[in-house]
Order: sequence, then C-alpha cells, then structure tokens
Amino acid sequence: MATQTIRTTCSYCSVGCNFVATVEDGTVTSWKPDKEYPVNQGRSCPKGFNLLEPFHAEDRVTTPLLRGDDGTLRPISWDVANKEFATRLKGILDTHGPESAAFLSTGQIPMEEMAFLGALGKFGMGMVHGDGNTRQCMATAAVAYKQAFGFDAPPFTYTDFEESDYLVFLGSNAMISHPVLWNRLKGNKNEKKVVVVDPRATKTARAGDQHIQINPKGDLSFLYAVTNEIIKNGWVLQEYVDAHAAGFEELAAHVASFTPESVEEVTGLSADMTRTFAREFHEAKAASFWWTMGVNQSHQGVRTAQAMINLCVITGNIGRPGTGPNSITGQANAMGSRLFSNTTSLYAGMDFLKETDRERVAALLGIDVTRIPQQNSLPYHKILERVESGDIKALWIIATNPGHSWIDRDTLYERFKNLDFLVVQDLYHTTETAQVADLVLPAAGSGEKYGTFINSERRIGIVDKVIDPPGEAKSDFDIFKGLAEAWGVGDMFAQWETTEDIFRFLTRTSEGRPCDISGITGYEMIKERGGIQWPYPANNPDDLVHRRLFEDGKFFTADGKVNLLTTDIVPVPEPTDAAYPFVLLTGRGSTVQFHTQTRTGKVAMLLKSYPAEAYIEISPDDAERLEIADGEMVEVSSRRGTSRVAAQITDVMAPGQVFMSMHYMETNPLTFPAFDPYSFEPNYKWAAVQVRPAAQEAIR
Ligand code: SF4
Repeated sequence: MATQTIRTTCSYCSVGCNFVATVEDGTVTSWKPDKEYPVNQGRSCPKGFNLLEPFHAEDRVTTPLLRGDDGTLRPISWDVANKEFATRLKGILDTHGPESAAFLSTGQIPMEEMAFLGALGKFGMGMVHGDGNTRQCMATAAVAYKQAFGFDAPPFTYTDFEESDYLVFLGSNAMISHPVLWNRLKGNKNEKKVVVVDPRATKTARAGDQHIQINPKGDLSFLYAVTNEIIKNGWVLQEYVDAHAAGFEELAAHVASFTPESVEEVTGLSADMTRTFAREFHEAKAASFWWTMGVNQSHQGVRTAQAMINLCVITGNIGRPGTGPNSITGQANAMGSRLFSNTTSLYAGMDFLKETDRERVAALLGIDVTRIPQQNSLPYHKILERVESGDIKALWIIATNPGHSWIDRDTLYERFKNLDFLVVQDLYHTTETAQVADLVLPAAGSGEKYGTFINSERRIGIVDKVIDPPGEAKSDFDIFKGLAEAWGVGDMFAQWETTEDIFRFLTRTSEGRPCDISGITGYEMIKERGGIQWPYPANNPDDLVHRRLFEDGKFFTADGKVNLLTTDIVPVPEPTDAAYPFVLLTGRGSTVQFHTQTRTGKVAMLLKSYPAEAYIEISPDDAERLEIADGEMVEVSSRRGTSRVAAQITDVMAPGQVFMSMHYMETNPLTFPAFDPYSFEPNYKWAAVQVRPAAQEAIR
C-alpha cells in the first residue's frame, strides 16, 4: 500500500491554515491541521476540517458543457470546447477590437494560475480588460496602502496579534470571519484591551473588552476626531513624524474641526467615549488596528483605512511589535491576486503605463513588448457597464460567482443578456453564474492541484494535490495550457511546463521590488520553512519565520516617507427616508459559511449550523413597532427589488438598522451600487430599505 503525507493550505479564508493529509492508495485516510505550521499551530475552523468534502459533490462539472440552440448545456470534449472558446472569442476580438472581451478572475486560485491567466488573456489573446473578485473585498486596503506606503504592503505579521496591548477591531467580525486568527489572542499574554468598533453587537464585539457601537458610516468622522484629540493634546510622536511622514500639517489642519462634540451626532457616540478612546490609544505601549469589510466595502473606504494609518503613524504605532494599521484579507489568495495576477497592475505591482516595466516583463517572458497593453484595465464595475452598453461582447469568468455576489445583482443578469459569449470556468455547473453560461469549463479545486497562496500576513504557502479531480476536470493551469494551444499561442508559454516554472518566473519579476521573493528557490524551500513571508530577496535572505515591514521607518514612496492622506466627509449615497427608513447592512453570517456557498453549502455538517433560509436581523424595538414576530416572514424592499425572508429579532442590531447575510441569494437584489472613488470597491454596507410583515401594505 502506497502511503503519502501531503501538506497543503486551506483555500477558504486568508488566514492561510495548513493541513496534513495522509493518503493511502489515493484515498485520504487522515486530515489534520498542521501543528508545525506557524500560522494555525494545529488549529482549524469547521470549514477547514471539511475542506475536501465539497470536491466530491455530485454537481461537479466533469466534462466541458456547451449550451445548444435549445438552451440546454450538453457535454462536449475538451477539443471541441477549446476550439469553441478560441473561435468565438477570437472572432469577437478580431471584429470589435481588443476592448470587446474581458475576463473576471478570483482570489481563490493559486498565484501561478492567476499569473498564467493574466499573461494568456492579455499578452496571448490580446484582451485589455481583466479584473478580479478582490475588487469586491480587498481593493480598498490595496489602494489605501499603495497611496500611503508607496506599495500595497500590509505591514504586520500574525505575532503582532499576540504582542499588542491595545487591539482595535474596526468593521471586523474577526471572531467568525477569521476564527483561527482570533484564537491566537489566547497567546497574547499582555495586559491588553480589545476594543471593537462596529454598528452591530457582533460576536466579536461581545467577546471584546469594549464595544464602541458606532453609527454606520460614522467611522471616518470618529477617526478624524480621535486624530484631532491626539494632536491637540500634544500626544504626537513628533520626532517620528518629522523623520518619516509627509503631510502632517495638512492632516492637523484637516481634522481641526472634528471635535468629539461635533461628531456626536454622526457617530452616535458621546464626546467622552471618543476622548477616552484617544487617550487610551495614546497610552498604549503597542496599539494596533485590525480591519476587514466594514471598512473596505464602503463609499469612503480608502480614506477610512488611511485615517487608521495616519493614527498609527503619528503615535509611532507602526514598524514595532504589536502595532500597525492592519488589514486582514478576505479570500485565501487575495494577496496573491493583488500582486501577481497581472490584472490591475503588471506582475509584482509594476505598471502597465510604464515603458520600462512593460519592457522588463516582455524580456522575462521572451515576448514582443507590443503584446503588453499600454493602458490599465477597467475596474470590475466599469467592465460590467461596458457589457450593458454592448461594447464588451464576451466575458470569461474564472472561479467566481458574480451571479450571486455582485451588488444590485439583478442588473447583472440583464447585462449578461447583452453578451454574445459567456464562459464560466468553475468546479460546479450549479453556480448561479454557470447556469447562464454559454460554455462551462470544468476546473479542479485547490486540493486537486498545485501552486501557492499568499495569506494576510504576506506568507506564501504551498497548495498541494491531495486527490485527483473528477472526470475530465482539469487544473486551471492545464485549462490555460489547452486554450493557449487552441488560440495558437502555445509556444509563448511553452517554458511553463509546471506551476513551479511560473512561480520561478514570478520570483524574477519581483526582483528589486518591495515584494521581492527572488531568494525563494522553489516549492521545497517554502515547504521546509513553513511558508515564507515576502519580502525574501536573494541578496539578503535570513531565516526569520516572522517578518514585519517598516521597522527602519523607510516606506516605499519616492522620498521614503509615509503619506498622511485625508478627505472631506461626503453624504451616504442612498440616505434613508420615510419610504425606506432602515439602513441595510450586509456581511458574513457565521463561521461555517463562505461567500456564495458554492462549497460550504455542500457540507452536511456545516449545513446544520446556520439557517437554511435567508433571514434578516432586526432590533426588538423595531420588531415590536412593526408588529413582527420572531421567525415571521417579512418583505424587505429597496428601490431595486423586494426579498421575502424570515425575521430574526435580536439585540445584535441597533434600532433603525437591519442586517442580511451575504450568503443568501435574497440579499444582493437589495444592495445599492455605490463605489469608493479610489478603489472602486462596492459599498455593500449601506442601502436604504423598508421592512414589513409579508403580504401587507408598507408601514411608514
Ligand atoms: Fe481555512 Fe480560514 Fe478556517 Fe483557517 S480559519 S481553516 S484558513 S477557513
């Protein structure tokens, strides 16, 4: 009997836990969290324990599927699928130009496959536009860091979680969204305080030492008032600011009018509470911010993230153990997508608009530089606008499910009707997006192939093959290989015989860049070291297991200083009114659910742990006023549509606010399509809605 021990990284969230599989004659006989891995240290959440189960689901796509004239998807061979893809997509590009087709990618597949897609789609097939679903979760953090630090560089390492003595979770329900990371708080032996700033009394808020129950969208005003208090009281670490920051005087002038009293109404917080927070933040030895989607998915998310960066910089809470303005990422490989997907930037954060960067990538790939677009891709929502206008006629969607997750989602289906060709590459034929595709390409999941992910703390971890994909499903790497051949550009990628060849190419693109990983020789080295955090340059490698950025006070901007950036507060895009009096918030429902539930929705054990039907959380006061009983069906209406869901009466919610979990199809028909002006990330955290008992007239 052949027995193998295989270590691989979980492909759900960005914590990046590792697992050890024992495989005997192709069957997994043991699956355990890796005790040796520095990230999870033997821990897992229920999703990770059940990572492999959805790969055996009956609705896996096991052959390519093509929609016939009668509207039915039917199995075809890979040969036919590749030819269909190449003939139809090429026909559209030849007739309508390079901007007439686009791809939408993901933070779910390994870095090497993302890199292949970016090269194939743009350099091989000649498309200009390609974006990823990281636009829906991490674009705000990426842009905030890039503008402030000069590069998209989350500064922290997970040990900062254990070394901080004042941890502020802002817009983060980490206890359920990043449970293994939250658990590491147990390893924090400091006399610490955990403060949770959130409109909802979430599990995280209840588990912390203090819950600051702020009004939705009050966070930017709150942070500016805190900054003003720090400056006014002389608590700025001026020596650090003078040496390492740019824009302090402008920051001080900007926040001068934000007093704790003046922001009471918008934040819903007493002036005392804001003052106390400012004093405690100042007095902490090592203060840290941890944020997720409550900040990122906002109409002013970038400047809100930068308000946290500003506070950390002016108080010297950066580059030291236990400090930092720290964005916890969403998907398993969101960070890989941000750096190496070749969508919004060239590889390793290089710039499509820079001739020298284009020449460098062309030389490393051995292609003519004219194959590299000299313009940036449109962001996700603009690509969809071009679908609506008919300018984009073909869309290729890989490992993401916008048919469920896109904001104001029902408009998406209308837009898709304008397409001449919609290709979906995924594991399941049942995803909402696959169900409307013209061509479905069957892909392998992350336990069925090879590559690497980058987690929230910049750690590159190994994805290893534990089981074989079913039927004729292939790794995305193999799918791209076949499509490249069918397109007639197979030679361009002939040097990439394995995913590790692509990894080595990426290390070369990173040389001399802030994310330099040219010191990593290959997968074996990553395995041996329990993952490796970037940067890891060739000229100065060390054996550090944990790396933090900016310990020397040098940032990646031209002058080496961090930029302190601000903005004016603008009104919420869709204010509540008499017709739509509630603020609808959306977010993760439970630890065991992930995104659109294409995988977690197939695990029997996980299904027992959350409501099968969509629900809305409403405060006891509002429920009583509207005469809604717990569990009763209600209609939730926005200006865009109506959903019927069950009422869940809970003091998690403040009056005037309601919450729907993002995992149900009933949620996104209601959300309002506003976007951050810098990151273009959708604002999932505010829509004006009405709630009423089902089948009754609106109660005003
Ligand atoms: Fe996977 Fe995240 Fe759970 Fe870890 S915390 S097992 S990475 S889903």
